Amino acid sequence: MAGCSQPADPALHRQFFALGTLVDLTIYGSAADTAERAATDIEQLFTRRHADWHAWQPGTLQATNRQLATLEGFPADPELLPLLRTANRLSRLSNGLFNPVIGKLVALWGFHSDERPDGPPPDNDRILELLRQNPSVADIALQDGQLQSRNPAVRYDLGGVAKGYAVDRGIELLQSHGIDNAILNAGGDLRAIGHHGDRPWRIGIRDPRGPGVLAAIELGDDESVFTSGDYERFFDHDGTRYHHIIDPRIGYPADTVTSVTVIHTDAATADAAATALFVAGPELWQTIARQMGIRYVMLIDHNGTIHMNPAMQQRVTFDTAPADVRLSKPL
Ligand code: ADP
Ligand code: MG
Repeated sequence: MAGCSQPADPALHRQFFALGTLVDLTIYGSAADTAERAATDIEQLFTRRHADWHAWQPGTLQATNRQLATLEGFPADPELLPLLRTANRLSRLSNGLFNPVIGKLVALWGFHSDERPDGPPPDNDRILELLRQNPSVADIALQDGQLQSRNPAVRYDLGGVAKGYAVDRGIELLQSHGIDNAILNAGGDLRAIGHHGDRPWRIGIRDPRGPGVLAAIELGDDESVFTSGDYERFFDHDGTRYHHIIDPRIGYPADTVTSVTVIHTDAATADAAATALFVAGPELWQTIARQMGIRYVMLIDHNGTIHMNPAMQQRVTFDTAPADVRLSKPL
């Protein structure tokens, strides 16, 4: 078959909706039929995972949550297990700021549904009640494929990591097809491998407060770039914006930051870290980044100040020179 295939020039480009977002796949420099087959596989993978990993639609994760709530031990779904392990590990490394088992809190705020979220914010008493129950990954025993919770308030919501995890599996799939040069972009969060011809992949970081691009980054051979922003899902009520990233310590949307961009090799880590550092905010992000092994961070706070570590600063090219940049110590 290889003999009859043509080089894809310039690239295969495929878009589809999955995991609640537009997925955009670009493959460069592979035979057209190989790229075509790989793209079909990726689309299938993402479509299937949407149901499996959705906490609030019938599927594997929902069933898992129901069994966890019984506090009885049960065999974990073997496909879901590695994702749960990844989420639990990243949660521990983030001191619980990335907390994948605050599903009840996410649902109370209404950010679980695929519908546009709407106010008013929930009753403070109900938030405090969930905080008191304090669900954490430390409540979950995961041994020999068996899962058990000792806290009835534990509910997985993998919205902060599943996209990254899916992107990692997608890149593995591409590589298994022999594809070396590609970008798999899920709603602006992406992992890139190889190059775009004889130049590196170059991507834009969205401006959290404008329509355009804030900065550009050239990517190395295999890197993921993930951004968490307060503009992704939110509602406004009485002049206050309530968005979808919850500070698990207080039960309210984390309110010190407008966006956090993280570069890391694997997408699952980058995804969870972007969420964790968003919660950590300007005071704590360096500590959490170090714990999670993150080497490139750009955080924009509510005053528009851009916080970066020096290695990140070396890599970003701003469209317009930012007014206020605060460089941290090296990570
Ligand atoms: P996005 O890519 O949608 O901007 P994130 O990767 O930051 O967002 O994930 C946000 C989603 O993660 C929320 O919609 C919710 O499902 C879940 N979530 C909210 N707060 C947290 C948190 N502190 N830790 C883990 N997951 C969270
Ligand atoms: Mg995330």
